[in-house]
Amino acid sequence: MVKAVVGANWGDEGKGKITDMMAADADIIVRFQGGANAGHTIVNNYGKFALHTLPSGVFYNHTTSIIGNGVALNIPILINEIKSITDKGVPTPHILVSDRAQIVMPYHILFDQYEEERLGKASFGSTKSGIAPFYSDKYAKIGYQVQELFDEDLLVEKVKRTCDQKNVLLEHLYHKPLINEAELLDTLHEYRDMIAPYVCDTSVYLWQAIKENKTILLEGQLGTLKDPDHGIYPMVTSSSTLAPYGCIGAGIPAQELKQVVTVCKAYSSAVGAGAFVSEIFGDEADELRRRGGDGGEFGATTGRPRRMGWFDCVASKYGCRMQGTTDVAFTVVDVLGYLDEIPVCVGYEIDGEVTTDFPVTSKLEKAKPVLKVLQGWKQEIRGIKKYEDLPENCRKYIEFIEQEIGFPITMVSNGPGRDDIIYR
Ligand code: GDP
Repeated sequence: MVKAVVGANWGDEGKGKITDMMAADADIIVRFQGGANAGHTIVNNYGKFALHTLPSGVFYNHTTSIIGNGVALNIPILINEIKSITDKGVPTPHILVSDRAQIVMPYHILFDQYEEERLGKASFGSTKSGIAPFYSDKYAKIGYQVQELFDEDLLVEKVKRTCDQKNVLLEHLYHKPLINEAELLDTLHEYRDMIAPYVCDTSVYLWQAIKENKTILLEGQLGTLKDPDHGIYPMVTSSSTLAPYGCIGAGIPAQELKQVVTVCKAYSSAVGAGAFVSEIFGDEADELRRRGGDGGEFGATTGRPRRMGWFDCVASKYGCRMQGTTDVAFTVVDVLGYLDEIPVCVGYEIDGEVTTDFPVTSKLEKAKPVLKVLQGWKQEIRGIKKYEDLPENCRKYIEFIEQEIGFPITMVSNGPGRDDIIYR
């Protein structure tokens, strides 16, 4: 059975925790898109980890972790991440890398920085991990697939072509140092040696696993609103964040995907630029940021303070619909226990009209939140294991949101740990 864990919003919904938890009953966990630009934070018996490239299943002995063809693979970061977890006592994970995954090149990272510099105030707030230049090259058909590292003649010729092309931009657009052909080739030889032990045709491996009735978990990065087609374009990421794309980015037939767990956080947070209708500011935002997540709402990769807001039913209803949600995992509910009253965004007012359908970006920028205020529960809810044992106002909050978004909340997360979960 194939399942996906994806985000309904802007990312940072707590997918890492839910994947880590669901990985207990999975055989294979696959990353299918994105790169080392975002991260998951996972707390387990080995400690606290920020993963950027490795799937969240790497902490179990019984799972295989796959870097799918859809991923932007940064080879040195992957290798360092494996080392960083084994150094902390986690048993060496079983990792496979698709021979069709493409490689984030050192110049992708530089181009990302140079372009943000060039754009100045109009920049996208990129994490400068090379992701946009990487996917641009992939779709311009000048990217490097992992398997190409093992064909020396092809590599030599391709490196020459790459330098010819990229150096024109470096010289005339960015006025930066040029790429040296011999150095780039050396780097790719190093990459080849680092990645060689992991490379295989992962789609064959997964097909075999499907035939053997294994449980496969597709692990998404970011959320619906960062999808390049359906998100807040252009303030989006460069690869699809939607569960159906998981089948493509992993190499699995689409009809095998049976369960889509969409993770929604009990309040909103976002990083980077772009419209954020239910955003809050000042002391109110600072307090939620400080209390949020597990030790504050700051980027797992960048350490940047996240933008904060109330739960957004409009964005989340859309976020769940576009994912093809079968189950909603509602996370970080414990954090809201300090509030007397909790506002929730139930509509967008755009040019005097109220809508509950998530609009295109130009309209989104004009949207003002329509808030409904619910009563807080003023109580610590960590440690509670049964839904009925949650305070009444907490259940009312969950049920109100479930009604508004129109998808069943089957899991409520009330703490960062693996066991902090209430099934309904
Ligand atoms: P992801 O990228 O979607 O995996 O999300 P992040 O890792 O950026 O953010 C989730 C943060 O919230 C992490 O620090 C988690 O440990 C933490 N977290 C996840 N679920 C819960 C929860 O139910 N309660 C609390 N307090 N923290 C949670």
